[in-house]
Amino acid sequence: AKEVHVIGGGMAGTEAAWQLLEAGVPVVLHEMRPAVKTDAHVTDGLAELVCSNSFRSDDFENNAVGLLHEEMRRCGSLVMEAAAATKVPAGSALAVDREQFSRYVEDKLTSHPLFTLKREEIPAIPPAEWDNVIIATGPLTSARLAEATLELTGKDSLAFFDAIAPIVYKESIDFSKAWFQSRYDKGEGADYINCPLSEELYNELIDDLLDGDKADYKEWEKDTPYFEGCMPIEVMAERGRQTLSFGPLKPVGLRNPHSDEQPYAVVQLRQDNALGTLYNIVGFQTKLKYGAQKEVFRKIPGLEKAEFARLGGLHRNTFINSPELLDNQLRLKKMPRLRFAGQMTGVEGYVESAAMGLMAGRFAAAERLGRQITPPPVTTAFGALINHITGGHIPGAPEQKTFQPMNINFGIMPPLESNRWPDGRKMKKAERKPAKAARALKDLQEWLDALE
Ligand code: FAD
Repeated sequence: AKEVHVIGGGMAGTEAAWQLLEAGVPVVLHEMRPAVKTDAHVTDGLAELVCSNSFRSDDFENNAVGLLHEEMRRCGSLVMEAAAATKVPAGSALAVDREQFSRYVEDKLTSHPLFTLKREEIPAIPPAEWDNVIIATGPLTSARLAEATLELTGKDSLAFFDAIAPIVYKESIDFSKAWFQSRYDKGEGADYINCPLSEELYNELIDDLLDGDKADYKEWEKDTPYFEGCMPIEVMAERGRQTLSFGPLKPVGLRNPHSDEQPYAVVQLRQDNALGTLYNIVGFQTKLKYGAQKEVFRKIPGLEKAEFARLGGLHRNTFINSPELLDNQLRLKKMPRLRFAGQMTGVEGYVESAAMGLMAGRFAAAERLGRQITPPPVTTAFGALINHITGGHIPGAPEQKTFQPMNINFGIMPPLESNRWPDGRKMKKAERKPAKAARALKDLQEWLDALE
């Protein structure tokens, strides 16, 4: 078969390359390091882990990232193989020796007869002769390629920062205090969940935001200006104690059905996934440390027992507006010979990025070999992620204008068909995640069997 070009030898690019090689398709992998450096990588090794050495929980029954590990193993993942070979003790988490891990991945690839490594930056959209390309250049994509991508996709379709507001499981919200309503009852229905703040609680929140422990800013983050729309909430609070009560927390057009008293301020949550199981706290993108976030946000009436699908954050990141730009095989609709993978597609984290590399590799291989392939079902962790990033057409899916990167979690998989076991017994809450995980692995196996 003719070769496929993979740009970027990080988590996604190496995994994509491996899937292609294993399918018998030659690969040319282009990696710009060491000639061109990034602000976070320190070696010239492939699959370098830029920060933590952990792939997070390996518990596939109770943790969605553990489930994604298991699904990747079942698809012959190189990243999972390398992790198993270079693992260090880390309790129920999967952590690795980063140098051995990187070397393992690089050795496996470079000793494959169909593999070519080119140490070069790809600074522009590749030429038309490259008819099957995977772009996996990650959160720190080189400036020239980011520019070129921006030109191709249009100016609102590529972001240089992620600004993530905390995301809460709806089932953990207390509706004896919170209520559904849209401001001035606009729109189709009661789209927002509202949490009332008294003057006293509002002031306490402002103090907490100003005094709370924040994550450090990296040098280069200080220099990159914020878009107004994704300014951290504590930076907004610094502008004045009332900035938030006239901004995202304004109480106008809302009435608390649980009390006759008009709230002083209102915290709003907006639906975050098509299923309506996840809600993000509007305007609460923040650099507060994770521990401080849980403590501060659980003081908000209705959120005392909030469980977070992910906490807020703000990072330098390069990602495209996938719901608008990509089809469900991760191809750029406008130029289908280009496929995107990894963090650029709007997933977040080593594992999720590698997983999207694995899928991009399989899709590209099938295309090259003239085989039919569809994404895995949405009940699997793989399918749920693909659906989340490319599912802009589904009502209630992430709004295209506010698309923000996502970790894998059980909230983006459809609910179980029934909360009862086949024998009629009611499922305990603690049994639901293992049941979802079992359904995922069964459905993934069926998908794999159908491919053979
Ligand atoms: P990368 O792994 O970054 O790979 C992209 C590769 O493309 C790089 O090797 C780069 O050199 C190369 N490249 C870029 N542009 C070009 C070009 N034009 N031509 C050729 N090659 C190019 N995730 C976690 O799970 N845990 C963490 O602790 C964590 N910490 C992070 C800290 C920082 C500072 C950053 C920026 C990210 C962090 N992440 C973390 C996210 C993590 O980096 C990604 O999830 C993951 O590495 C993304 O994989 P990727 O393959 O998409 O990109």
